[in-house]
Amino acid sequence: MQKGDLNMSTEDSAPVSNFIRNIIADDLKVNKNQGRVHTRFPPEPNGYLHIGHAKSICLNFGIAAEHEMGLCNLRFDDTNPSKEDVEYIESIKSDVRWLGFDWEDRLCYASDYFERLYEYAVQLIKRERAYVCDLSSDEIREYRGTLTKPGRESPFRARPVEENLDLFARMRAGEFEDGARVLRAKIDMASPNLNMRDPVLYRVLRAPHHRTGDKWCIYPMYDYTHCLSDSIEGITHSICTLEFEDHRPLYDWVLDQLDVDCHPQQIEFARLNLSHTVMSKRKLLELVEQGLVAGWDDPRMPTISGLRRRGYTSSSIRDFCDRIGVAKRDSLVDIALLEHCIRQDLNSTAPRVMGVLRPLRVVIDNYPEGEEEELDAVNNPEDPTMGTRKVPFSRVLYIEQEDFLEDPPKKFFRLSPGREVRLRYAYFIKCVDVVKDQKTGEVTELHCTYDPETRGGAAQDGRKVKATLHWVSAAHSLEAETRLYDHLFTVTNPDRGKDGPDFKTCLNPDSLTTLTSCRVEPSLRSAAPGDRYQFERQGYFCVDSVDSSDKALTFNRTVTMRDTWAKVKKGGKG
Ligand code: ATP
Ligand code: MG
Repeated sequence: MQKGDLNMSTEDSAPVSNFIRNIIADDLKVNKNQGRVHTRFPPEPNGYLHIGHAKSICLNFGIAAEHEMGLCNLRFDDTNPSKEDVEYIESIKSDVRWLGFDWEDRLCYASDYFERLYEYAVQLIKRERAYVCDLSSDEIREYRGTLTKPGRESPFRARPVEENLDLFARMRAGEFEDGARVLRAKIDMASPNLNMRDPVLYRVLRAPHHRTGDKWCIYPMYDYTHCLSDSIEGITHSICTLEFEDHRPLYDWVLDQLDVDCHPQQIEFARLNLSHTVMSKRKLLELVEQGLVAGWDDPRMPTISGLRRRGYTSSSIRDFCDRIGVAKRDSLVDIALLEHCIRQDLNSTAPRVMGVLRPLRVVIDNYPEGEEEELDAVNNPEDPTMGTRKVPFSRVLYIEQEDFLEDPPKKFFRLSPGREVRLRYAYFIKCVDVVKDQKTGEVTELHCTYDPETRGGAAQDGRKVKATLHWVSAAHSLEAETRLYDHLFTVTNPDRGKDGPDFKTCLNPDSLTTLTSCRVEPSLRSAAPGDRYQFERQGYFCVDSVDSSDKALTFNRTVTMRDTWAKVKKGGKG
């Protein structure tokens, strides 16, 4: 991807401005940071990336790409080995790359700074800004006070520097049990900001780290690690989500106590919340671990890997991130906007094909047995350069079950007894007989006649029909499985706080419908994993990258044809 390519919305070619870009532009005007713009995307490798992370990735890498001297690091914030895994590291790297971004040689790990962070902590102790505390975690919580009540000072707060240095070294050497002692910042137990009431900087934790192995049995806490990692990397603008606003005084305090060359500016923005899904990694992990979805890349998940497997393109996700913008206030974005973005993308790029999801057999009584012919079909009416293809026609066809009704209500214009309709690219057919299962009464086969004078879909005598149906030739079509997806949750906001009902109670029982006897046109024989198509009238589908094979084609429905977002915008009902 070229510099300057990013953050261009499809409708408007100017970079989308926002308050963060304005801050950076103002900094550049006064030559702050000598004209450098250096951001970072700092995931914790404790889960797969989701669409919310994509917002942060597009923002951080996007801003860097817009500036001559712009750089963006990918940094793993790997300070909690008990929850982290290399599987997550690999997935995060491949997702960021797939989204179209490049960290070049700037792949960083907070764990690479453990030795320096330790030295900085020793500095803090020497400057009487940190002390070793023997209170238990419960006691620390109790001493901390509340929003309305000031905290109390730890009895260990006045420990002499020498004793702190000795105890901290012995913490590192493994002399103490997990949780027995912590290193705390010495700030202000009466601060109205709870984060400033002597926060813990280091804890004893015997957990092997995926990068440092057994080298450490003390690990630095997030707030302490993050600001120093930013500073070590020369980050100029440390962009994070709003929940860190109250942590900013601590971010600045740590850097102010130490002799660091670089003091990045922390800027907070509102995280993305998306309707009908959850975005917390902890909750997504719960869905995976309890088998409520098929894995992190289940196409119903809001993860990047799930969206990719579902058929989303990276450009549609970047487009979405542009459109939602960056603000200071939390909001809930309608998932219909995300669907609108992929629909727009695929409308211009996906070849059209015909696939029948729930087949109903149709015999054309007056079409000669054993005969077949090929008809010309347009690959994409939006893009003539995509050309045409041949689709075979013969005496026995399949149409969609829902395109036939024996007793049609007033506004049903599709096939019914005595009614004539058009088969796309083929002929007008008229239904002359209905065959039913004796026992169930279910329609099992239709008999129709075709009009040879309507080849290509138009009648010589100018007569009109009110419906055009998709179809496949029975003998030529391929069998396929399709997976139709719906929202993972039935309610707009499944995440109703810790006092609300558990988010899993509103999982949508119909979020996945698997159809195993679909029939698709033979041109799909060469479809490869990840290929995307519009099944005419049915939606956009993508060949499943895990389960599909030459022998058993499997398609995921990326999105239906119906654009609820366009309706929302027009003020109609969804
Ligand atoms: P969770 O709370 O679900 O574990 P997290 O914020 O802790 O998510 P990180 O791996 O720390 O996940 O996130 C990496 C970066 O992505 C952070 O800078 C974080 O602010 C940002 N981020 C995470 N979720 C969102 C979101 N929903 N919208 C925008 N940015 C997000
Ligand atoms: Mg985090």
